[in-house]
Amino acid sequence: MQRPYNFSAGPATIPSEVLSQAAAEMLNWPDATGRLCGMGVMEMSHRGKEFLSIYEKTEADLRELLNIPNQFKILFMQGGGLAENAIVPLNLSALRPNPETRGAADFVVTGSWSKKSLDEATKFCDARVAASDQINGFTRIPEPSTWNLREKASYVHLCTNETINGLEFHQLPDLKALGSAAELVIDFSSHVASRPVDWSRVGLAFGGAQKNLGPAGLTLVVVREDLLGHALPICPSAFDYQMVASNQSMYNTPPTYAIYIAGLVFQWLKRQGGVLAMEQQNIAKAKLLYDAIDQSSFYVNKVALDSRSRMNVPFFLRDESRNEAFLTGAKEAGLLQLKGHKSVGGMRASIYNAMPLEGVQTLVQYMREFERTLS
Ligand code: PMP
Repeated sequence: MQRPYNFSAGPATIPSEVLSQAAAEMLNWPDATGRLCGMGVMEMSHRGKEFLSIYEKTEADLRELLNIPNQFKILFMQGGGLAENAIVPLNLSALRPNPETRGAADFVVTGSWSKKSLDEATKFCDARVAASDQINGFTRIPEPSTWNLREKASYVHLCTNETINGLEFHQLPDLKALGSAAELVIDFSSHVASRPVDWSRVGLAFGGAQKNLGPAGLTLVVVREDLLGHALPICPSAFDYQMVASNQSMYNTPPTYAIYIAGLVFQWLKRQGGVLAMEQQNIAKAKLLYDAIDQSSFYVNKVALDSRSRMNVPFFLRDESRNEAFLTGAKEAGLLQLKGHKSVGGMRASIYNAMPLEGVQTLVQYMREFERTLS
């Protein structure tokens, strides 16, 4: 079935193949041999052999897809990116114990999400801005050599893809080369699995699943083993990474159905050729859309070329009075959820892994047509 193209920033489009398989298996899940088990995935005990087989395959496929080294633990948690903004400092701010003061963490503020992370962390630790581009309206990622990194910081936090402002780190900083012994923490919610991750530079990565991995309700955390076991005494047990890791993410009941759907997305990703193949396609999709914007005098994107996101492309009509007409026409053309985030306005096309090239081609065609009819 051909569905409209859905450009939502998240929860976002999921491959139709995945949804069809989930629908077919809704009432009675078949195991790998095709034997029906008599119940749907939502109804299974998380400790039963059926769900455990789903869980183990999902975890193994993710490790393979993202090339996650063995010394990193994969945790399936709940609470989304915003809960992680508290859970990370609760677990990592005391990596460098300092009896006199609270633990310290530095933040590179490149948009709304890293700003939120900073604000939340101030509740739990001495959180400071190491660099910010707020003064320029978040249009460029500050050059790492200019970051003001404190020696006492336990970690440095980045949001490696700013979903609202449309900025992406195209390379992770090498903190050691910058003279810092801090761990790198990345919020990769909105570009996880769209490109490879250089794990040699990362201590912890977290992300909500509802953009590139599957449904809302599941939060992925990938953490190097030696960072476990440092939680503050006030950290809730269900949010203590050590507790979660030593119970294979089953200290509390995990979001079983969301894990199952994410598992189907991982199988779909493997069939597409994995993350490297996705990256090539994501580069092509982003180029097509940015070229269309840059070549027109009707649309504009203000982000510096080297900081532009491949996943979330905000753009503005120079004549904002046309916004409603643009969105209405887009919907009629089968292009859904293009309205920009309320804090920045304009339009935003989120073009995650599950958005095919044809979806972006159709959008670009529509944009050209809309411009043509008005000029
Ligand atoms: N970080 C980023 C980069 C995001 O895009 C979002 C959600 N849009 C969040 C954090 C917050 O995620 P959640 O709503 O799942 O808490």
